[in-house]
Amino acid sequence: MTIDRRKFLTTAALGAVGTMIPLDKEAEAGNVSGYQPRFVMIFDQNKCVGCGACKEACSETNNVPAGQLRMTLERQSPLDGTPGNRKYVRVSCQQCSEPPCVRVCPTGAAHIDPATNIVTMDNDRCVGCKYCIAGCPYNVRFINEKTKAAENCDFCLHTKLAIGELPACVQACRYDALIFGDANNPNSYVNKVLAVKDTVRVRAMLGTQPNLHYIPIIKKGV
Ligand code: SF4
Ligand code: SF4
Ligand code: SF4
Repeated sequence: MTIDRRKFLTTAALGAVGTMIPLDKEAEAGNVSGYQPRFVMIFDQNKCVGCGACKEACSETNNVPAGQLRMTLERQSPLDGTPGNRKYVRVSCQQCSEPPCVRVCPTGAAHIDPATNIVTMDNDRCVGCKYCIAGCPYNVRFINEKTKAAENCDFCLHTKLAIGELPACVQACRYDALIFGDANNPNSYVNKVLAVKDTVRVRAMLGTQPNLHYIPIIKKGV
């Protein structure tokens, strides 16, 4: 199946927040009141070469101040000692379905968008108390130096999904290391990948129900 990596989504105006919600054609056709999407991102460690294009695209798209990041890549040790044989891990908000950051926010600034179920921010309500930062077990939140509000990767909810595009990092990745879509749509590509690939989630035992999945690297010669 060929996927237009820039605009495989169509848009449908939905929800009380007035956000343009991306839905693929199947989901849109089947969309009835009460439909609950579950957007998931998959990072394939086997395909990531650590080029950093995702990181740059994220910062530019979301106007992240220099020196701050919504996402980064951690380079891990070589698997077999071979120089250059590195592996990378994406570090960003895990988009928990049970997000501690939302639970501890006293103002409702950190919240789950009711139309998409994506964890995002209402900057106007943020008082900078940092409770959400302390409450996040993944250490991926920060106070944006410009806005003075807490920030997390929200799958580009307002900057890309709102105009029917894939998240900036997914668009920027030329190595197909990032997959994004609605896991609750049985016809979505992401749903099919989750069905056939072994994926792992970080600290899922905490009950946070992260929606960032990882396809771990396949060790050569094992
Ligand atoms: S753009 Fe893709 S290959 Fe490059 S670092 Fe990001 S995820 Fe890895
Ligand atoms: S990873 Fe942290 S910031 Fe993201 S939803 Fe979970 S608790 Fe909130
Ligand atoms: S989904 Fe958007 S906000 Fe999240 S890492 Fe990718 S580009 Fe950044």
